Amino acid sequence: MLKYLSTRNIKNKVKPSLAILNGLADDGGLYMPDDLDLIKVDYQELIKRNYLEMANIIFQIFFPDFTSTEIKKIVNDSYDHKFDNKLITPLVKVDDSYVLELFHGPTGAFKDIALSALPLLMKSAMIKNQIDHDILILTATSGDTGSAALHGFSDIPKIKIIAFYPKLGISEIQKRQMTTSNGKNTEACAINGNFDDIQNNVKQIFQQNPNAALSSANSINIGRLVPQIVYYFSAYQQLVTAKAIAINDPVNFIVPTGNFGDIMAGYLAKIMGLPINKLVCASNQNDVLTEFFNTGRYNKDRAFYQSTSPSMDILISSNLERLLYLICGVDNTIEYMKKLENNHEYTITKTELAKMQETFIADQRNDQQTMITIKNVYDHTHYLLDPHTAVAYGVYQANHDQLKQNINVILATATPFKFNKVVLEALNIPSQNDEFINMDILAKNTAINIPISLTNLAKKTIIHHDEIEIKEMAAYVSQRINQHE
Ligand SMILES: *Cc1c(COP(=O)(O)O)cnc(C)c1O
Repeated sequence: MLKYLSTRNIKNKVKPSLAILNGLADDGGLYMPDDLDLIKVDYQELIKRNYLEMANIIFQIFFPDFTSTEIKKIVNDSYDHKFDNKLITPLVKVDDSYVLELFHGPTGAFKDIALSALPLLMKSAMIKNQIDHDILILTATSGDTGSAALHGFSDIPKIKIIAFYPKLGISEIQKRQMTTSNGKNTEACAINGNFDDIQNNVKQIFQQNPNAALSSANSINIGRLVPQIVYYFSAYQQLVTAKAIAINDPVNFIVPTGNFGDIMAGYLAKIMGLPINKLVCASNQNDVLTEFFNTGRYNKDRAFYQSTSPSMDILISSNLERLLYLICGVDNTIEYMKKLENNHEYTITKTELAKMQETFIADQRNDQQTMITIKNVYDHTHYLLDPHTAVAYGVYQANHDQLKQNINVILATATPFKFNKVVLEALNIPSQNDEFINMDILAKNTAINIPISLTNLAKKTIIHHDEIEIKEMAAYVSQRINQHE
């Protein structure tokens, strides 16, 4: 049966339900399947099925200690009637490429796809492992994870969740989705720091409290990654159905990237057997990954930009450790992670880099270029991109020569209404300071409907007002751990 090993110790194995509950391995590594042969699928058979059926099969492959009845219920409760599109992740033709819309869930960003399922996977895993104490989930968020996680975990029994978000650099809508979360078990807290500070602190809190019932809803959790694999297959299926490709034609995916979770799910889909040619890692001005994939050097000592695509404002892309493990092996992964901690940088070998470059291309777009992309694409096609998706679209256009031999799919990770101020500015439409008024302005000017999930937000009561310093996080958490005993 498939188990999960740590990227820092291949002997440290746990069963899938425990990998989901633990989030991070106790040695600080990330969980990976211990036998990649066990995740191979007959993709041609798989893509004959609808989204929910594909999710069923993929979840069953990665989480074999859940029964098929349990998986079926989890998948149904996650996706059936929770998304405003029957296909869950519809594919739209835009100019000479395709856009895969991942934002039809309850909070308008792609994180809903994983965070609709993770809480239910955890709940089921707790029962399976006879865990009867409460678990506290700590989430570092650059905006979208927090809102999707608070929504997904809302009123799940025996699980509590705190979302820590940076006080500056997230949109009013993202913030409002968190501060109005009204689950009995949900909390949101603003931190005076950036996402990397918060993520590092959450990691430290885990290491300082090895015996506490803590877990993570961040994309380091394998229960987050697996649901994201499904839409790569869905995209391929929709391309085949539309006769845009023939079976076995390789496809490129262009992925707006931050923590390297979304694109890592694509790499797993490729390992499973989906014909993927290139995975294009698109970054904003926080281009640490662009440098990495082009030179082999990962250097986190660089200026941190607060960009117009805040969910990608990340200098330490945690999920990259999974790729390092696959390409460089466990010993080098340990060495690189140590170097990253102590020297703030590491460089992989030329051979390792060449191996990565067989699949990965990386490039970046700054805010100004991204604004132009939003405007140009809208003017030419009437398709409206959010700033994150526009980064990917811009990278696609800039690398067109290298990509044009294949069909290209750009992953659209958020609805433009969630980041309306930037989108209005890009379109040269006067905006206001109130993002809720801006939603209406954007809808009127583009004749595109505001997603239902966002229309009621302005009326909801703000419940969570906490705001603390980075150094206060550990104490904030320990207060809540103690309450659980
Ligand atoms: C989280 C997020 C991303 C980045 O995804 P990763 O899995 O962290 O690489 C991109 N766009 C949006 C809108 C997001 O919320």
